[in-house]
Amino acid sequence: MMNKKSLEIYVHIPFCSRKCAYCDFLSFPGNERTQRDYTEKLIEEIDYQSAFAKEYQVVSVFIGGGTPSILKTEDMEAVLNALNSHFDILPDAEITMETNPGTVTQEALLSYRKAGVNRISMGLQSADDKELRYLGRIHTYDEFLKSFQRVRMAGFDNVNVDLISAIPGQTVDSWKNTLKKVTMLKPEHISAYSLIIEEGTPYYDRYGDHVEMESYSMTKEERKRLMALPDLPDEDSEREMYYLTQEFLMEQGYERYEISNYSKKGYECRHNIGYWTGIEYLGLGLGASSYMNGCRFHNTTDLSDYRNASFDQDEGFTQALRQELERLSIEEKMEEYMFLGLRLTNGVSAHDFVSNFGQNIRNVYGQVLDKLEREGLMEFKDGYYKLTSHGIDVSNYAMSQFLL
Ligand code: SF4
Repeated sequence: MMNKKSLEIYVHIPFCSRKCAYCDFLSFPGNERTQRDYTEKLIEEIDYQSAFAKEYQVVSVFIGGGTPSILKTEDMEAVLNALNSHFDILPDAEITMETNPGTVTQEALLSYRKAGVNRISMGLQSADDKELRYLGRIHTYDEFLKSFQRVRMAGFDNVNVDLISAIPGQTVDSWKNTLKKVTMLKPEHISAYSLIIEEGTPYYDRYGDHVEMESYSMTKEERKRLMALPDLPDEDSEREMYYLTQEFLMEQGYERYEISNYSKKGYECRHNIGYWTGIEYLGLGLGASSYMNGCRFHNTTDLSDYRNASFDQDEGFTQALRQELERLSIEEKMEEYMFLGLRLTNGVSAHDFVSNFGQNIRNVYGQVLDKLEREGLMEFKDGYYKLTSHGIDVSNYAMSQFLL
């Protein structure tokens, strides 16, 4: 029998209790009725899309958002059951669910586990309640602790905690305190990103490098609170936090396997690694992106278009759902392969490059690789080209060299 190709599945649940002030993800509050309608449509989509994935075996599933754990337990069960019955999911596939503190009950966690979820990702961001308030998060550190205990009690032994550094008002000491408190809990995986001020968010109004204010539906009171937020840490403190993250987490037994991701040995997130190493993926739900058969596309980001999408006929589906169908050229595929692969501390395998593109990596990128090596930003070891630690620090510059 022919070997099936590997596929990753991403499922997007766009609902959150409230929008965080820095967030530019496709997420918004939604009442119970809206969430129920969305779930029904999503299940229709799962059914429909599975017909296009018959030649694939699913190696990982990531249910993200938004806040997936906000859905009613029976709705999430229905989504998980639909995935299990329509796709060929490998028995040892990694199945991750994102949760936010304060939105998970013991009953819900047990039902996720029963339906095959074997990894929980928790959005904490900071262990300092003041910083959490500045971010606009709905939870306190205490609520996170309770949720973390519930996750462990439900039997999950693969847990990620998301953190953000360079938050308004944050100091190097308070960041260290967050790292200390979190590592004491011994999660298997920690994602630690620096805050990015994204256009189109309230934070952009407060901290962005521009004059015009965006027009949000904010009350006067909310705007006043936004403008009263403390300043961002200065550049030196931000750098210090960045170096402290690596140093501290590595001391605590975590390995840095990607620019912003750390794990205990054997607990690297397989879904993310698959994405960074070019495994095909299928996105289900509002705005979800896919990359299959050399084509990149994403679902509509308009909730009412998504709700009205017809899954009965190809025509309706293509027009209402799939947007920006883009066939990548060989050069674009190579560029993407390098950008994503170099995020990993293992780097890019010279052997895999040949298998993927039928060309020696040196024929395409020889000059760039030599130049970066001379600059001390790149090294070649055991068949892999990888960024040095200095290269990782200036990764934007290093990666920009790989544009063809
Ligand atoms: S919980 Fe996450 S997805 Fe939801 S608004 Fe906050 S940052 Fe955005």
